[in-house]
Amino acid sequence: MAANRKYYQDYEELCELLNKSPADYDLEKIERAYRLAEKMHGDQRRISGVPYILHPTSVACIVVDLGMDTDSVVAALLHDVVEDTPVTIEEVTAQFGADVAHLVNGVTKISKIAYTSREERQAENVRKMLIAMADDIRVIIIKLADRLHNMRTIDCMKEQKRRDIALETMEVFAPIAHRLGIKAIKDEMEDLSLQYLDPVGYKEIETHLQNIMSDGQGFINKIMEQISARVSEYIKDAKVSGRVKSIHGIYKKLIIQGKSLEEIYDIYAVRVIVDTVVDCYNVLGIIHDMFQPLPNRFKDYISTPKPNLYRSLHTTVIGSDGVPFEVQIRTQEMHQTAEYGIAAHWKYKLGMSNKSSMDEQLAWIRQMLENQADNHDPTRLIKDIKTDLSSDEVFVYTPKGELINLPMGSTVIDVAYAIHSAVGNRMLGAKANYRIVPIDYVVKTGDIIEIITGKEGSVGPSRDWLKIVKTSDARNKIRQWFKREKREENIVLGKAEFEKECKKNGFELNEKELEIMMEPILRKKNIPSMEHFYASISYGGTVLWKLMPRMKEEYTKILEERKKAEGIEEEYVVPIVEDKPKTKISKSGVIIDGMDDVDIKLSKCCTPLPGDDIIAFITKGHGISVHKRTCLNVPKNIEDAEDPTRWISARWSDSISNSFRTVVEIQAYDRTGLVADLAGQLGNMHINIHNMSSKNIGNGLAMVTFDITVKNKSHLRDIISRLSSVRGVISVERTNR
Ligand code: MN
Repeated sequence: MAANRKYYQDYEELCELLNKSPADYDLEKIERAYRLAEKMHGDQRRISGVPYILHPTSVACIVVDLGMDTDSVVAALLHDVVEDTPVTIEEVTAQFGADVAHLVNGVTKISKIAYTSREERQAENVRKMLIAMADDIRVIIIKLADRLHNMRTIDCMKEQKRRDIALETMEVFAPIAHRLGIKAIKDEMEDLSLQYLDPVGYKEIETHLQNIMSDGQGFINKIMEQISARVSEYIKDAKVSGRVKSIHGIYKKLIIQGKSLEEIYDIYAVRVIVDTVVDCYNVLGIIHDMFQPLPNRFKDYISTPKPNLYRSLHTTVIGSDGVPFEVQIRTQEMHQTAEYGIAAHWKYKLGMSNKSSMDEQLAWIRQMLENQADNHDPTRLIKDIKTDLSSDEVFVYTPKGELINLPMGSTVIDVAYAIHSAVGNRMLGAKANYRIVPIDYVVKTGDIIEIITGKEGSVGPSRDWLKIVKTSDARNKIRQWFKREKREENIVLGKAEFEKECKKNGFELNEKELEIMMEPILRKKNIPSMEHFYASISYGGTVLWKLMPRMKEEYTKILEERKKAEGIEEEYVVPIVEDKPKTKISKSGVIIDGMDDVDIKLSKCCTPLPGDDIIAFITKGHGISVHKRTCLNVPKNIEDAEDPTRWISARWSDSISNSFRTVVEIQAYDRTGLVADLAGQLGNMHINIHNMSSKNIGNGLAMVTFDITVKNKSHLRDIISRLSSVRGVISVERTNR
């Protein structure tokens, strides 16, 4: 607790910052906000025991550091008042105006709606935030400050909670900070998150870095002096500074990309800041004259700025003692944008002169939201943020020398769609560095990519591409194409797939009942009709198996309705006496027609799960045992079995609430924290773990086994897909013990 006290700044410190700032602040309004927050938070405390009010004052300090305006500071002070105290948004509007209320509302989480999973809730909150920031970008700046402060003071939280927050920060908030160009916040968020996500790896690199720095600082200083001396002969007022790459930056290259320290050319970087763009190129000439440049390492982000508006010249050269380092050359204004991104508009009053770049930023957010409009899977948004906003980028060239910037892992199809949707839609194949490559070729930095296209109208994208592409931009353009060009076909294909899935799950419904079953689901997903629904299955907007749990719920309701209806008819219509075979549902959830009150057991050899194809065997004196059809103990041809009459058909009851034990085996690249990450995922899903083991199986691989309780097959499928998403996992399989 004492350790992170330094991260708390009180109102006095806030006032000091406000007074020191060159900007004009409405101190009266800020003080009113502080008084209200102080009164309403009263004696609430943070988990660490620190008075709660110190959180909003600290967030406000970060907001002032970023140079934000009065309303942003006021909203920062009030940001938790609506969520955590009785104050309503209407009262905030009345006392501080609509702008402040909008900011506070944008930062406040959605609390009322119940979502089925943590992911969906997370996605809905992020979506709400994006919508609010599309109107007013200050929302996200306050939210980033809030998250940064929470990360700084996360120490006293429970391990699991800490990891959840760190993961969300790494996957959602740091990418947003990166996309908005707010480097200071992005770097600190990544380093703090890494510290909790992989403490061992973090420590390792920190120690590494300290070792390097013991002689590294001298190295940087010497180079800075050399450059400074040469440049000042030609250019006045050039400022030269040096930096070492962040821990997370090195971690990514060492651990995730598997490079060696020698392969990281930008551990050291020297920055030269000059007055004009022309001088940037002059300095570049001087640097290349002084040191040997490495090939393919020169990047001109002045003529082609990064999507987050970052502009600079980068080159990597080799120092006199053979150590490579990066040189970044930029003007003062470019430097401000590089450090503060969108916040530079307020901090350096660039807002007035540079309105168009602000609009560009807002356009990106709107595009992101628009891309989600067709998409009925809420968690897709988070995935798109992860890839589209990632700072892991590759740069490729068109044969004409145009630079294209894409997230790492992008394929030639992504390149084609990044050039233009018409190029993507007409793509037949591609060449990388003048050689034909397969369509799923993953591009590397420096590749020259040529897209081979066919005549408009004679070709079109393939549905398989949806599985290959990396960027949401390409995926959406492909979907748009299918939506537009292939509507009829989509409906037919989607319907067929839907029917197949229904059959697989044992739904028996007529057309009318089917619509009744789907109605609430379509309504929630904003899909206007069954036709639209079928179409969306084909173009990839709807992922069927994810809907299955809800469909099953609705199906059970329909079955109940049917029973009720039958019951009513029986009262008024003279019943036809006919002895229907009675069915009995056993505790196991298995139905065997015509069997009464029998002792049904799920066999231990194959542990069948609801959803599996099953068959029952009448044992001698031990009741009935149920096996999977595919179990080795079940004869392939029942007729050929020793005792064919003992094998009888069985099916799963539609309303099983029982749980089942099963074992999953995970093969993964061994790394620190692997088991914890896997167990964490299970914990998130509230899965009961009975037993767990982990062993090294050589070649740097580990086999982790979990003995868990699951509800049914589709639940198991969710679990498997969740475990598969853990870093390093190669395969997840359910085993037959
Ligand atoms: Mn907060």
